Amino acid sequence: YRRLESTHATGAVWRSRIAELNETLNALVHVAPEDGYSSSKLPLSNIHVAIKDNICTSTMPTTCSSAILQQFTSPFDATVVRLLRESGATIVGKANCDEFGMGSLNTYSAHGPVVNPCRSTDGESNVKRSAGGSSGGSAAAVAAGMCDVALGTDTGGSIRLPASYCGIPGLKPSYGLLSRWGVVSYADSLDCIGILGKDVSIIKTTFDILSQFDPKDPTSVPSAVRESAANDLYIDQNTSFDSDKPFAGLRVGIPHEYFPAELDHSILHPLKDVLGLLQKYGAALVPISLPSTPYALSAYYVISSAEASSNLARYDGIEYGLRVDLPPGADKRKTSDVYAYTRSQGFGPEVQRRILLGSYALSADAFDNYFLQAQRVRKLIRSDFDNAFRSPNALHSLSATPRTGNPNGVDFIIHPSAIRTAPPLPDETSSTSKSANSLDAYVQDILTVPASLAGLPAISIPAGFGDDGLPVGVSLVGQWGKDSSVLKVAEGIE
Ligand code: GLN
Repeated sequence: YRRLESTHATGAVWRSRIAELNETLNALVHVAPEDGYSSSKLPLSNIHVAIKDNICTSTMPTTCSSAILQQFTSPFDATVVRLLRESGATIVGKANCDEFGMGSLNTYSAHGPVVNPCRSTDGESNVKRSAGGSSGGSAAAVAAGMCDVALGTDTGGSIRLPASYCGIPGLKPSYGLLSRWGVVSYADSLDCIGILGKDVSIIKTTFDILSQFDPKDPTSVPSAVRESAANDLYIDQNTSFDSDKPFAGLRVGIPHEYFPAELDHSILHPLKDVLGLLQKYGAALVPISLPSTPYALSAYYVISSAEASSNLARYDGIEYGLRVDLPPGADKRKTSDVYAYTRSQGFGPEVQRRILLGSYALSADAFDNYFLQAQRVRKLIRSDFDNAFRSPNALHSLSATPRTGNPNGVDFIIHPSAIRTAPPLPDETSSTSKSANSLDAYVQDILTVPASLAGLPAISIPAGFGDDGLPVGVSLVGQWGKDSSVLKVAEGIE
């Protein structure tokens, strides 16, 4: 496997190389017709960007990797796509993903699975690995050099997990900073657009362009709150890493709940190297506890499935998207038959599972025990983080009783991004490899869903390699709105 070296090469050579790589990786489901090379001096001129296929683009289809949207092209660009184009970026195509963003391995796609460009060195190098999901196409495209940057979405880890598996950095920003207008909803209260890139610096540049208030998104946070949150007493954004101790005075928390029994031990060496670097740069490492963490995964799957069951009700076979021919005997005038046949064929098995689970959690009998309980857990997770951080949560400044930070708290939290390195794709499982079944896939999210439930900024950065030679990522999590500080520290330890 050879990385595409210069994404700045244009024209036919570059396009044929992309096509060749895509043949093996299946990272892009649609390649843009023109490479639109622009030489003007805009901030993203010459930067090639792939867009996850659940983000609307007016010039290319948006299928969400689902049969139900196989013919759909949006009449408009998502706000983030518009901002990219206005900054001179070249959109290279749409990136494969799990159907509607539901999954952790990018195997639930109507376009087929994405193959991780990285191969192991432990004698199983011929075994194809998962690129992670749901933004697996975005991560594989960046890792293979098919683009410099890719947009993904992260509802419960869908940027950080593929970034970790593919050995690149990936940022899930604070909830409410990047406009969701034009993003196909999975679970609105958790969905975030995020950025994967070949290095932290290009993620930073892209983030600064995309992080803007958008009146079209009702959850977009007003500028004044963004500014007050970004203002950081403990991180000097101008610090250069040439100085001996750029992180002097910084406190970094290590939560013991983030080392579950399922964690593969070979993840720990790369993590220790990063911790060593932080100490060398002057940061203090502080053991902390986030006691509600063990409940996060169940709460996440109840809330996300409940919201998904409501959001996906719009694919009814009537207004747009797929409508199947009804079999003999079915009544064409009965809308319930049109719904049932269309949705049974149009949605894949995982999406159908989530719709059933979510509808059940919202039903009168189950509501108190499941949905309400999950919302309570979500509140506990949020206050765990607020109690751990030294800075107060700027979103509370909007509430009647603004809270202060914890004076003995930490500035960041660090933890492994995933419990293991990239697993083999399901049909690639050899006798010695551990397979990735659907329960394994849910367990993968243990470490990423808490920051999603709390809406916090989190970045996964490559930290080294496991015993099998596959990439290992570590995640840095900050208080709400401290995305620039998170990026600053990530740049220092990259
Ligand atoms: N794996 C999680 C899920 O399936 C997260 C997906 C995501 O972040 N979009 O819901």
